[in-house]
Amino acid sequence: MTGAPASGGLVDCVVLEDFAAASRILADQGVFDAAGHVTMRHPGNPGRFLMSRSLAPALIAAADIMEFDLDCVPCDPRGRNPFLERYLHGEIFKARPDVMAIAHSHSAAVIPFGLVSTPMRAMYHNAAFLAAGVPVFNIRDKFGTTDIVVSTPEKGAALAQVLADKPVALLRAHGVVVVGPSLRAAVFRAVFTEINARVQLQATILGGPIAALDADEGRLADAVNLATDTRSWELWKRRVTR
Ligand code: MN
Repeated sequence: MTGAPASGGLVDCVVLEDFAAASRILADQGVFDAAGHVTMRHPGNPGRFLMSRSLAPALIAAADIMEFDLDCVPCDPRGRNPFLERYLHGEIFKARPDVMAIAHSHSAAVIPFGLVSTPMRAMYHNAAFLAAGVPVFNIRDKFGTTDIVVSTPEKGAALAQVLADKPVALLRAHGVVVVGPSLRAAVFRAVFTEINARVQLQATILGGPIAALDADEGRLADAVNLATDTRSWELWKRRVTR
């Protein structure tokens, strides 16, 4: 196709298989339903990212993976349909050079925290990354009445601005976006954001003040999680590899 951006280069098939597995893992772990998407920065070119064609995450295989520039133009679409919400990923990759992978889900347990004024906090060490604070993106603030979908570069950029330097942002009446310095880290954080939401609701029901991790504990515990995330990855990947 004329005018399509050049590819960042061939990606190792082991990397592609792992990337496809990430979507199946998040479906298997109850984070993704028929919706949800993961992206990763192209390993050979920070100005490109990888994302599946529009498909239910549980069904994604390496052959479904497409490549985009950061304006979300596909390098070689070959008739494949991209996700409408790819702009959410492209604009975060532009704004955050430290981010190597992004997951966006509509996982049910986090939805309440995007609707109320109670902030999501880090309930335990697996969710330490949440101690940095969890902002809420309300699409209505800048765009008024919409269909809620982050379907334009402008909406993606507004979300990236609310996310700022944090690992997680909630999307009011929509879902959550989670970023990480690696694919494994983003998957780990997406799983434990969902679990943390359930645990925080349980802690709230018990009543009284909640002794959540503070920012310093969060930083220390998150470093341990990032250094050991291969253990969960291997376990989760085995469940979705046939
Ligand atoms: Mn969505």
